[in-house]
Amino acid sequence: MTRAPRIVIIGGGIGGLAAALALERRGTETIVCEQSPTLSEIGAGLNLTPNAVKACRALGVEREVDAVSSKSDFLNIRDWKSGRYISRTRRGEFQKKFGAPNLTVHRADLLEVLAGALKTTQIRFGARCVGVEGGERLAVARFADGGAIEADVLVGADGIHSVVRNALFGTDAPRFTGCICWRGMAPADAVPHDINTIDGAMWMGPHGHVVHYPVRRGELLNIVAHIDSNAWTEESWTRECDVSEVMTTYAGWHSALTRLYPYSERWYKWALYDRDPLERWSSGRSTLLGDSAHAMLPYLGTGAGMALEDAYVLAAAIGRQPDNLATALSIYESVRVPRAKAAVLGARARAKENHLASPWARLKRDVTFALRERFGGEDNTAFQVGWLYEYDVGQELG
Ligand SMILES: Cc1cc2nc3c(=O)[nH]c(=O)nc-3n(C[C@H](O)[C@H](O)[C@H](O)COP(=O)(O)OP(=O)(O)OC[C@H]3O[C@@H](n4cnc5c(N)ncnc54)[C@H](O)[C@@H]3O)c2cc1C
Repeated sequence: MTRAPRIVIIGGGIGGLAAALALERRGTETIVCEQSPTLSEIGAGLNLTPNAVKACRALGVEREVDAVSSKSDFLNIRDWKSGRYISRTRRGEFQKKFGAPNLTVHRADLLEVLAGALKTTQIRFGARCVGVEGGERLAVARFADGGAIEADVLVGADGIHSVVRNALFGTDAPRFTGCICWRGMAPADAVPHDINTIDGAMWMGPHGHVVHYPVRRGELLNIVAHIDSNAWTEESWTRECDVSEVMTTYAGWHSALTRLYPYSERWYKWALYDRDPLERWSSGRSTLLGDSAHAMLPYLGTGAGMALEDAYVLAAAIGRQPDNLATALSIYESVRVPRAKAAVLGARARAKENHLASPWARLKRDVTFALRERFGGEDNTAFQVGWLYEYDVGQELG
C-alpha cells in the first residue's frame, strides 16, 4: 500500500479516542464515527491502575492525565460494619514498585485529555453504525442514516453492546453478573472531616462492597456501592434514583458511609454485565477494541486501562505492518487476547471474593489480605494484582 492506511473507528469513548490518538501518531488517516451528537462521558470516576498510567505514557498523554487526576497514598480496605482496617495498600509506593502511580480521574476529564490531544483525526457525530461488511482487503461500515464508509481497517470500539462484535462474531449477549451498583459524586469539601476523602477506600461487607476515592484533584469524591442482587437488570449509565434506595440497602453499614451518601446530589444505578472472553477479535479487515472485545466487571478497576493498552498495541502493530494489515491485526490479537481474557476472568473471581456472605469466610479472607500486604514479597498487594500492574504496554512491539 503506497498511501497511509485509512482506519475507521466506530465509537468515540475512551477506547475509540485512545485508538485514534495512537493511530494518528503513526501517520494513519483516522476517522471516528460516534453515534452521539457530541463527545460525552458520564459524571463518574475511573481508577487508573499503574499499567493504565503507563498506557497513557505510551500514548503521550501521561502528564496531561496526571494534571487532572488525584493520587492517594493508600487504599484503605475496611470492614463494612466496624470500620476496622483490614489492610492498607500503599499506593504511594506504586511508582517505585510498578513504574507508575495509581491515579483516579473523572471520566469526562480523561475523555477531554484524549480528545484535546487529537490533531488530524476526523470525528463524525450522529453516526450510528448498524452493520459491518467486508472481505480480505476492505471493510465497510453502514450507518443508520443510510450512509456507508470504507476502511482499510475497521475498529469496533462501540462498547459492551457492540454492533461490530455482533456483525463479526454473531449475537452472543452480554451476561448479567448478578451484581448491581449505585454511583454518586460528592463535593469533597462538604463531606464531614472525619471521613477520609484523600485516600481511596474499599468497604467490604456481606454480598457487597463500596468504594470511594477522590477525583478532579481532590475536588470531588466518587462513590460506587456494589451489591449482589437480581432486583434490577437494566444496564444504563444514566438511570437516576433516589438516595433512599442506597440508604436502605446499606442501612447496617458503617456510619461513615450512611453519613456520606446524602452528600451526593444525584444517584444513578445500573446492573453490571460482562461478556465471555473471545478467542479472536478480528475477521477480515475488522477488529474489536475496549469493552466490545472484553467487557468486564469493574472489580479490578481496569476496563478502561485495558482499552488504553489495546489502543497502543493496535497502532504499534499497524505501524509495524502497514503493508500487511491482516498480519498487523493478528499481531494485535496475539498480544491482547490473553491479557484481556485474564482480566475478564480475574474480575469475575474478585466478585466472589469481594462479596463473601459467611462471616468465617470473610474473616479468613481479611486475614489473608492483611498478611499479603505485610509479608507478600514483591507483589504485596492485597488482591495479588502485580501481574496486572507491572505490565508496560510501551514495551510491546518495540
Ligand atoms: C461501574 C463501573 C465502574 C468502572 N470503573 C472502572 C475503573 O475504575 N477503571 C477502569 O479502567 N475501568 C472501569 N470501568 C470500565 C470502563 O468504564 C470501560 O471499560 C470503558 O469505558 C470502555 O471504554 P470503551 O471506549 O471500550 O467503551 P464505551 O466507554 O462504552 O464507549 C463506547 C462508545 O461507542 C459509542 N457507540 C456505541 N454504539 C455505537 C454505534 N453503533 N455506532 C457508533 N457509536 C457507537 C458510544 O456512544 C460510546 O461513545 C468501569 C465500568 C463500570 C460499569
